[in-house]
Parts: sequence; structure tokens; C-alpha cells
Amino acid sequence: MKIVVLAKQVPDTWSDRKINLETGMLERSASDPVPDEINERAVEAALRYKDTTPDTEVVLLAMGPEDATKSLRKLLSMGADSAMLVTDPALPGSDMVQTARVLAAAVERLAPDLVLAGNEATDGRGGVVPAMVAEVLGWPVLPGVNDLEISPEGLTGTAPVDGGMLRLSSPLPAVASVTERSADPRFPNFKNIMQAKKKPLEILSLADLGIEAGPDAAAVRSVMVSAAARPPKEAGPKITDDGTAATQLADFLAAQRLL
Ligand SMILES: Cc1cc2nc3c(=O)[nH]c(=O)nc-3n(C[C@H](O)[C@H](O)[C@H](O)COP(=O)(O)OP(=O)(O)OC[C@H]3O[C@@H](n4cnc5c(N)ncnc54)[C@H](O)[C@@H]3O)c2cc1C
Repeated sequence: MKIVVLAKQVPDTWSDRKINLETGMLERSASDPVPDEINERAVEAALRYKDTTPDTEVVLLAMGPEDATKSLRKLLSMGADSAMLVTDPALPGSDMVQTARVLAAAVERLAPDLVLAGNEATDGRGGVVPAMVAEVLGWPVLPGVNDLEISPEGLTGTAPVDGGMLRLSSPLPAVASVTERSADPRFPNFKNIMQAKKKPLEILSLADLGIEAGPDAAAVRSVMVSAAARPPKEAGPKITDDGTAATQLADFLAAQRLL
């Protein structure tokens, strides 16, 4: 089986992340780029299947800036076989529709049986790219699964929703996204770290994929109209216990719709 894992490079969650208020884009110099932790979990799901079914091939796929190769090499050291990066001057600032179109074109070129992804990137947080990729491919999608089970026949998994847990299944080919409750990613061992440096990593442009991007190529697109710094946090009200503190506290929580 061939499994493609969608692996986005993101700014380090532990560093101070900033956006450029003129362009609305990420200030890349402000934080270290790293593989998104949720995508490490998707790689883990693929590698667990490879552990039990050795003729499995795991391919990482990213769309991002040229230095996203660093994150792909880190993920290769977990045990994936190869990686592909799509990078092009027309791609910075891509909305989710364009990202999905580009990733789907790369998936078609790789021709896998299964595409795995994170349920939500820690920076963009759209949470829809996997479903959009599935839509472009015309494949079924299992979104936000805690415990993905892969077999040659198909996928099953449990997705938490408000008020319950849904048991989902689909035949292959399919797209599935995993949640942060899915299996913890493994630590790369020394052998895999050394091997990762030499594993195939293909870099493609939009022309290589035979597609176009940018405003003129978009049938639909979202546009960032302005960017602003978050307003500074205001100090909350201070409750002094004059015998009515419990009532004041309950009123405050009710006013915030927390009760
Ligand atoms: C040169 C360049 C610069 C970019 N700069 C930025 C930037 O500054 N900020 C930003 O948020 N995005 C950037 N992108 C990527 C792209 O615009 C976003 O990935 C896209 O809008 C997805 O939105 P999301 O993160 O909300 O996805 P979500 O729907 O939240 O992502 C869910 C899952 O989809 C998969 N996925 C999503 N995006 C990608 C991707 N690009 N590659 C591989 N897998 C993916 C992952 O598995 C992820 O866990 C850049 C891309 C390029 C080519």
C-alpha cells in the first residue's frame, strides 16, 4: 500500500508567533519552522501500518517555502520513505482552496491508496484542507479520527463529535485526518536520522505539476482584507468578598455565558 502524509511546516508552537501587519502573512524570521506535531501523529499512523505490513510505502507531501525541506527531513527520520515539496513564487499567501488544489494535484501524481493528514494545522487552523483535498480527488474522507485502523480493504476509526463518538469506515482510496488523541509519534532512532539525509526528496514547481495558481487561476478564493494586532488584554473585574462574592462571581460567569 502507498500512503501519502500531508505534512505542513509551521512556526514553532513554543515560540512567539507573529504576523506581518502589512501583508497579513507569517513573520518567518520571528520563530523557528518545525513540522506540525499533528502531522507527526499522521506519520505515526502510517508507520504503524508499515511496521506490520512491510511492503507499505510512506511518502510525505508538503506545500510551502523552500526551507520546508528541513521539516520534511525531520519527518523522514521517523521512518517515512520519501518526500515531495511543492514550492513556487505564485504560492505564498495561498488560501485553503488553492492549497487543496495544489496538494490534490501532487497526490494524483503520487497515486497513493491512502492520504493521511492532521485534523487542523496549528498555525492556519482552517481544519478543512483534508476534506477539500478529498473533494478535489473525488475520494471519501474520514475527518478527525482518534484511532485510525488501516487495512488493505479500507479504513475505520472513531471521530468525537458534540454529544457522542461516531464510528466511521470507508473503502480505499480515501483521505483521513487524525486528532491529537491519536497515537503518540515515535522518536527517530540514530539509524533513521542518518538514513533520512539520503532519502529521496523531490521539489516541484506548479509548472512541474501542470497547474496554475494565483488570483487569475482561482474559480473561488478568500482574500485577506486587513490584518491588525490583537487588542491588549484588559484586566478583569476584581471581586472583593463583602459577603456577596459568590453571587457576584456567579453573575459574572453568567454574563460571560459560562454558566
Ligand atoms: C511559499 C509558501 C508560504 C506559505 N506561508 C504560509 C503562512 O505564512 N501561513 C500559513 O498558514 N500557511 C502558509 N502556506 C501554506 C498554505 O497557505 C496553508 O497551508 C493553507 O492555507 C492551509 O490552511 P490551514 O493551515 O488552515 O490548513 P488546515 O485545514 O488546518 O490543515 C489540516 C491539515 O491539512 C494538511 N495541510 C494543510 N496545509 C498544508 C500544506 N501547506 N502542506 C501540507 N499539508 C498541509 C496538514 O496535514 C494539516 O494538518 C504557505 C505556502 C507556501 C507555498
